[in-house]
Amino acid sequence: MSFYHKVHIVFLCFIASLVTAQERNNFYITNQAPLVAQPYTPLPLGTIKPKGWLLNMLELQRDGLTGHLDSIYPVVMGDQNGWLGGPGDSWERGPYWLDGLTPLAYILDDDKLKAKVKKWVNWSIKHQRENGYFGPFPNKKGAPVIPGTQQDISEDWWPKMVMLKVLQQYYSATEDKRVLTLMDNYFKYQLKELPAKPLGHYTYWAARRGGDNLQIVYWLYNITGEKYLLQLADLIHEQTYNWTDVLSGDFLRNTNPYPALHCVNVAQGLKEPAIYYQQSKDTADLKAPYKGLQSLKAVHGFANGMYGGDEGLHGNDPTQGSELCSAVEIMYSFESMLPITGDLYYADYLEKIAFNVLPTQHDDAFMRKQYFQQPNQVKVTHEYRNFYDAHGGSNTVYGVLTGYPCCLSNMHQGWPKLVQNLFYATADDGVAALVYAPAQVELKVNEGVNLKIEEKTGYPFKDEIEFEFHPEKEVQFPFHLRVPAWCKNPQVKINGNLQEITVTNNLIVLDRKWKEGDRVHLKLPMEVRTSLWYEKSVAVERGPLLYGLKIEEDWQEKTNDLWEDSFYEVEPKSPWNYGITQKSIENSDFKVKIADSIAEMPWNLKNAPITIYTQGAQIPYWEEYEGNTGKMPAPQYQPRELGTKAETIELIPYGCTTLRISEFPEVQGLD
Ligand SMILES: [Zn+2]
Repeated sequence: MSFYHKVHIVFLCFIASLVTAQERNNFYITNQAPLVAQPYTPLPLGTIKPKGWLLNMLELQRDGLTGHLDSIYPVVMGDQNGWLGGPGDSWERGPYWLDGLTPLAYILDDDKLKAKVKKWVNWSIKHQRENGYFGPFPNKKGAPVIPGTQQDISEDWWPKMVMLKVLQQYYSATEDKRVLTLMDNYFKYQLKELPAKPLGHYTYWAARRGGDNLQIVYWLYNITGEKYLLQLADLIHEQTYNWTDVLSGDFLRNTNPYPALHCVNVAQGLKEPAIYYQQSKDTADLKAPYKGLQSLKAVHGFANGMYGGDEGLHGNDPTQGSELCSAVEIMYSFESMLPITGDLYYADYLEKIAFNVLPTQHDDAFMRKQYFQQPNQVKVTHEYRNFYDAHGGSNTVYGVLTGYPCCLSNMHQGWPKLVQNLFYATADDGVAALVYAPAQVELKVNEGVNLKIEEKTGYPFKDEIEFEFHPEKEVQFPFHLRVPAWCKNPQVKINGNLQEITVTNNLIVLDRKWKEGDRVHLKLPMEVRTSLWYEKSVAVERGPLLYGLKIEEDWQEKTNDLWEDSFYEVEPKSPWNYGITQKSIENSDFKVKIADSIAEMPWNLKNAPITIYTQGAQIPYWEEYEGNTGKMPAPQYQPRELGTKAETIELIPYGCTTLRISEFPEVQGLD
């Protein structure tokens, strides 16, 4: 392709981005004026289907806790829950479960699961009160009250926010108009009640998590255009904790003490400024989540993308924990911000959490979950560790009710919502693939032409992705592809022909006429790279995956008097106290071995599709301390009298590990 042609493409892209700033997608629910036009628009629930290993994850959920929580967890069992009119829990647990069950049911098109969803949705719709209130009845006999008051917790604004997300997803799949009526009534009720009973009136959680409420208000506005919704949105933003200031300023960087912020609130609060930006159009709101992520990384950051927060924010020592709720909520924050901002930084981050953190925090059968995970995790045992909350020493074991049960209900949204965010409609009626995994999508593009795209890939393990196009007739539209920040030399072939491409803000746009059978082949070469973390420890990454030391695992099923269900402890069967030699790091001495095929369940020790070989050395005085690794050795010379010698060590994807070192000491002075 000539130089002239290349410049021509840049020019077209520039025009396209100008057009994008004003255009709004013609076929799907998208921002309406005066809200900012969004570059990407989510597609109806059920139009994106997972394939391969990702389909297997959803099927495991169907056969595991997600599909059966109502026969396992008494709180959401039968008609006991307050959200089904029962005397039981009136707070977040039922809605949390539904927030993951709903996308699972409609993505898998599973009638049994759909019936479970409808039971809860119908109850909320049928029992909405005259004044617009919906949800559990307040003032039930024996209902929990807010400490120090007679105020019934049933009326808390917070769990309603979760149920609003459920109802939005249910509508996205079914277009059941009763949802719109319920929301309209409820938002009018909120507008009337909030001045006297603000978000923080019942519990502080609602004031921290107002962004979840706000985004559904905008969603309804985009359907009905009712102006009072924008007034309500301003009110909700005013009553929500000031995340823009907190994320933008130095507060998150405070040490001694760390800021008293709850880990899950941070994961959820992160998106609030970007949500409100749609109305405020204030760049301070737009930039706040980005700045907040930088601060979190600097002071609390782990190589796996999470931050130390075992209840409160707790620094970046890799023996601190991160909660499963934080993982799925920060994923949802990225999924919420990506279509509004078009900032592909959030897509990179989303993949980092989804492909590293999420797979390790549940067992292979999706029947047990881990409350806190540690980036350097050498034992998963029922014993006390240095976390802000002890929970009977059960924080890291794989159990049902172990740790704290919020995650037992909230974990279900992780995989299904990832599927739902693999493709978007673009503002100029094309399609975008911004997050990669095996899948297919059906949608309407330019002038309403129906299009199906099949995405075939071994990503995130393999670096090639093939898209096969099936439009009902030949049609022109732009196809957006993300180039991850870690990828230096992306390649695109169309029908086997290598294309000259322009990457603008990590985006490739292929705007052309597409016909039946067209194929786009995207190659994202993955190179091994290292980065520095706590105590100058070293992390090894390749593409979207972080790598951890392969440690042989001994899984033991245990019971005790504290928990009704059994749980799993995992002990190491091979030594873990390895550093990586300075020479290997400096020479980038990492040999990568990739399996030919990806197992249906790639996320375990046995099926790990990739091994990286490098030179490491045991550090004899790096010993266990209270179930953790002891103090992280700083980079240092290893005296030969300790008997230390360099040897080949194996690293596997972090998401395939249960026990691991992922932030390695550097060992100097050994070849
Ligand atoms: Zn939780």
